[in-house]
Amino acid sequence: MRKTELKIKLSNLKDNINLIKKFTNADIQAVVKANSYGLDVSEVLKVIEDDVESFSVITISEAEEVRKHTTKPILLLQGIHEQEEYSLIEKYKLDFVIHSNWQLHGIEKYNLSNSRIWLKINTGMNRLGINLDDFEKLFQKVKSLNAKDIVLMSQLSASSIKDDSETLSQIETFNNLVNGIPCKKSLSNSGAIFNMPEAEHDIVRPGIAIYGGKYNEFGTKNVSSLTSQIISLRNIKAGDKVGYDGSWTAREDCIIGSIPIGYADGLPYFKKPITVSINGKEFKTAGKLNMDLTLINLEQDSSIKIGDTVKLWDFDSNLSKVSEEFNTISYNLLTNISSRVTKNYLE
Ligand SMILES: *Cc1c(COP(=O)(O)O)cnc(C)c1O
Repeated sequence: MRKTELKIKLSNLKDNINLIKKFTNADIQAVVKANSYGLDVSEVLKVIEDDVESFSVITISEAEEVRKHTTKPILLLQGIHEQEEYSLIEKYKLDFVIHSNWQLHGIEKYNLSNSRIWLKINTGMNRLGINLDDFEKLFQKVKSLNAKDIVLMSQLSASSIKDDSETLSQIETFNNLVNGIPCKKSLSNSGAIFNMPEAEHDIVRPGIAIYGGKYNEFGTKNVSSLTSQIISLRNIKAGDKVGYDGSWTAREDCIIGSIPIGYADGLPYFKKPITVSINGKEFKTAGKLNMDLTLINLEQDSSIKIGDTVKLWDFDSNLSKVSEEFNTISYNLLTNISSRVTKNYLE
């Protein structure tokens, strides 16, 4: 079998949830969109279901999948994408966001008594959310619906940067608007939980922190390890070209090892060398990433054998650092992993 494998350590997920609880007194909504950032939502829920008050996703089909594993609230973070989805919201008893006026058109026909409506306010990110000027009118409209509850929310644009002034002013704008309104409120994503305790309201919405892809400096643990194995070894001479477009040339005689993982497995495309680890030693890739293969400059290390394990990252890696080599972010590393990669879950 092709041994290109993503291992997921479930105990690290549990540790991350427990760590988040140390940083916040708010209820936790686990963001499990995109199949739990690529790690498999059914496995993730087995570990964290008891620890959280709710879950959130983007699409109805993601919500359907989560509903198989929990009776707790599930929030559609972008609400409906077309009007007909309100009947599925009824069916699966989903919470949903209202971020734009159009999402309220025709909403009265539906029975929303099992749903919380999360009214999303634009406080400066200028992505989704109603304008401050429209708040009073739309809040009254939402109150007139027969929903189970209303939650007021916003999204912070740069919570990963401690004391970012724009983000602090977003928090102030939100607080000024919602202060005194007897509704639950929610503002913090992972970054704010660690960096901006003043953003805390009733519900926090961590995603990447649960999966340990960021905030290792606060104690989160990376939950995944991506490995492949050497399937080919080849001696080449100084001056020989390697791989597509001959874009890499050997400076001295060396051994080129191949591992069966490429961009079709979800590695972000790269042209510059990235670092991998084999038997505790670091090596650089040679040439451009292929669809199904990565080539490695093993220099003159003849101790490396067919079948040896090659680590792209490991449980003790800092995924933010790893992602920099790929010229991307850790969210992208995790959510990109394709179904072709075998996933194995460790207790
Ligand atoms: C994805 C998402 C989150 C989670 O963000 P992290 O940075 O992964 O913690 C929180 N809130 C909203 C609205 C989101 O879309």
